[in-house]
Amino acid sequence: MTAAIIDGKAIAAMLRAKVASEVARLKSDHGVTPGLAVVLVGTDPASEVYVRSKSKAVIEAGMAPCDHKLPATTSEQEVLALVARLNADPAVSGILVQLPLPPQIDAQKVIAAIDPLKDVDGFHPINVGRLSSGLPALTPCTPAGCVILAKSVRGSLAGLDAVVIGRSNIVGKPVAQLLLAENATVTIAHSKTRDLPGLCRRADILVAAIGKSEFVRGDWIKPGATVIDVGINRVAGEGGKARIVGDVAFDEAKAVAGAITPVPGGVGPMTIACLMLNTVRAACALKGVKAEI
Ligand code: NAD
Repeated sequence: MTAAIIDGKAIAAMLRAKVASEVARLKSDHGVTPGLAVVLVGTDPASEVYVRSKSKAVIEAGMAPCDHKLPATTSEQEVLALVARLNADPAVSGILVQLPLPPQIDAQKVIAAIDPLKDVDGFHPINVGRLSSGLPALTPCTPAGCVILAKSVRGSLAGLDAVVIGRSNIVGKPVAQLLLAENATVTIAHSKTRDLPGLCRRADILVAAIGKSEFVRGDWIKPGATVIDVGINRVAGEGGKARIVGDVAFDEAKAVAGAITPVPGGVGPMTIACLMLNTVRAACALKGVKAEI
């Protein structure tokens, strides 16, 4: 069997086009332009790349960007004061503070200071609690993207066995909650899990969010399974040139799985598309308009 390749780029482009139509409707029918504030502290190169692509996507969707680049020496108080201003600003529908933050700033304190209605990353404890209680919430973008990709292959996930490798607050735990909300039977595996290969072999849906290059091998995969690879790992390629690989040994897995996300071009593009979706939904909620997306 050779797995179908799940085209995250194409699925993300479709979602972004839908977001752009919803933005156009909000503008014409309600005079509302959603705005996304992105706060970057310091000069982490990966963060700078993410922030640039986020701002580009905001503009493409017809929304208003509002970027704040602060020096690495910025104090926690200064970041908290900026978040307070953005919370109060009616032109801002979503606030994203790019992580990681420099060591003098407590990321949890900053996340907790964001208005939960503008928390488009879905990391605020209120949104985390709402998601785990099955209440409407702004949900984390990468996990939401994983579930959209899994559903693009399987349709309903009800009753399927899902194994999530990784229990971070950013990916593993929220993806498990979202799969549970889709009525999958969910197991969360982590660094202390026994017989990880055996556990993975039971999975109809396997989500790998570990951060270790090509960690999941082909013989861990149930024939026909849907494999969602969240990992982004930089390794030395031919001629010493860096290349990006996932947490799954792609070529081995492709020979066994029913469908698999490539890296790059799988989960990655969905993160920004889901961020755009959260921003337009947040704008609707803040203005009391029913979202049509
Ligand atoms: P993390 O380091 O916070 O968490 C990794 C998890 O993997 C931990 O919960 C740990 O228990 C588990 N783990 C580590 N070693 C293990 C082992 N030997 N066996 C089983 N489990 C093990 O990482 P994260 O923030 O959750 O990110 C995971 C990966 O996803 C990284 O490669 C990251 O770059 C990538 N990522 C991608 C996107 C995207 O947009 N595509 C977004 C966020 C993260």
